[in-house]
Amino acid sequence: MSATLLQKVWDAHTVRRLPNGQTQLFIGLHLIHEVTTPQAFDMLRARGWGVRFPERTIGTVDHIVPTLDQRRPFLDVMAEDMLSALERNCREAGVRLLDLTSGAQGIVHVIGPELGLTQPGMTIACGDSHTSTHGAFGAVAFGIGTSQVRDVLASQCLAMDPLKVRRIRVRGRLSRGVYAKDVILGIIRRLGVNGGVGYAYEYAGETIERMTMDERMTICNMSIEGGARAGYVNPDQVTFDYMRGRKFAPQGDAFESACAWWKRMASDPDAAYDDDVEIDGSSIRPTVTWGINPGQSVYVDEPLPSAAAGGSEGAGIGEALDFMGFRAGQRISGTRIDVAFVGSCTNARLSDLREAAKVIRGRHVAPHVRALVVPGSQPVRLAAEREGLDRIFLDAGFEWRGAGCSMCLAMNPDKLEGREICASSSNRNFKGRQGSPTGRTLLMSPAMVAAAAVAGEVVDVRELADGH
Ligand code: SF4
Repeated sequence: MSATLLQKVWDAHTVRRLPNGQTQLFIGLHLIHEVTTPQAFDMLRARGWGVRFPERTIGTVDHIVPTLDQRRPFLDVMAEDMLSALERNCREAGVRLLDLTSGAQGIVHVIGPELGLTQPGMTIACGDSHTSTHGAFGAVAFGIGTSQVRDVLASQCLAMDPLKVRRIRVRGRLSRGVYAKDVILGIIRRLGVNGGVGYAYEYAGETIERMTMDERMTICNMSIEGGARAGYVNPDQVTFDYMRGRKFAPQGDAFESACAWWKRMASDPDAAYDDDVEIDGSSIRPTVTWGINPGQSVYVDEPLPSAAAGGSEGAGIGEALDFMGFRAGQRISGTRIDVAFVGSCTNARLSDLREAAKVIRGRHVAPHVRALVVPGSQPVRLAAEREGLDRIFLDAGFEWRGAGCSMCLAMNPDKLEGREICASSSNRNFKGRQGSPTGRTLLMSPAMVAAAAVAGEVVDVRELADGH
C-alpha cells in the first residue's frame, strides 16, 4: 500500500500501540545539550535508572556557551554549572560529548547533519524545538520537553500522538535575492503560526528539490514556527551526495545499501495526504518579519498590515505594532537597526556565511550598528576561515565569534539592550527572545541581515548589485 515517508518511518519504529491511542516509538538518535538535560539526568538518578542506549545518544554544548571568551571556567557561574553537569552526566552514562575541545562542537542541529549522525528514515529527538531541522534528510525529528528527555534516556522510546501529513509543494524558480528563509517565512505567513498543529509538513515541489541540503535544513528548521510537530523532505540524490563520506554515515558497501533503503523510505508517488498546499515560489520576494511571531512578515517592499485586517491576519496585529513601535501602512524598509546577527541553527551554516559575505565584501558596517557573525559549529567556523570569510567579515566591521546559539535566544552574554532592533537570521521574534524584554527582532535571510548591517537600516538586498 502507498504511504508517506512519515507513515513508513513511524511504522518502522513502532514498538507498540498504547491503549490511549498514542504510539510507543523507538528513537534512533537522541541529541542532547546542556540546557534540557540536567534535570532529566537527575530524575533518572533518583529512580536508579541508567541510559538505555548511550551509543544512540550524543551530546554537545551550544545554548549557554560564550562566543567571545570560551576559556573555562566560564565567567557566568550558571553556564559553567550547566556545562559541568552535562560533562559529568555524559561521563557517567558513557555518552559521547562533543565539547569545546572536540573540534566538532556547535549548535545541536548543525552538528548532527554535519557529522552524518542525522540520516534518512530515522527517528530523532532532542530537547529543543528546532529538532525539525533534521527532517531535511527524510528523518522524522521532533523537539521534546525535559520529562521526555528523561523517557528517551531511560527507554530510547517516546509516547507520541499520531500525526497528519500536509504536503506543501513549492513551485517555480526563486528570484534573485530570495532564499530558503524567505520561502519558509512565506509558508508560515500563509498557513499561520498554528496552521501546522497536529501535522508533519512534507516539503516538496521542484523549488525544494532544487535546494541544497543547507537550504532544506533552513526550511525544515522553522516547521515548528508554523505549528507543525515535524517537517521533512523526501531523501534524494542531493541528500545522498551530502551524506557520502560523513564521519558517522555508513561507509563503503554499507553506504550503497543504506541509499537503497533510504530511497524506499521516501513517500510513494500516489501516497495520500491529509492536506495538500501549493505555493508559487517564483512570486516570493525578500521577506522581513515586522511583528512578534514568525508569521507576521511582509515583503521588504510591502506596507505593514493594519490592525483592522480580518481573520487570522488581524489577530494580534495591534499588539505587535505597538510593541514594535510601527504603524500600519509603513514600509519595513528604512527601519533603522542597532544590531545585525548572522547566526542560529536556521542560518549559520557555511553557505549562509558565504551569502552574507558576498553582500558585505568591500563594504563596511554602518557606524551605529553592532554586527556579529556566529558560526553554527566549529567546523563551519574553520571552513569559513579557510575560505577567508572571517577576513571579509572582520574587514567590514563584523565581530567573528566562536560557535553557539548566541543571540538567537541570548542565554549567553550576547544580548540586545533596551529597545534595540536586531536584524537577525534566527528563527524567533518573540518578545524578549534576544535577551532584552523590550528588544525587537526582525527575522530575515543572512544576505538581508548583511545588507541591513551595511545600510544601517532594513534594505532590499536586490538593490545591492552583487546581492545574490
Ligand atoms: S540556535 Fe536558537 S533555535 Fe537553534 S538550537 Fe540554539 S537556541 Fe534553539
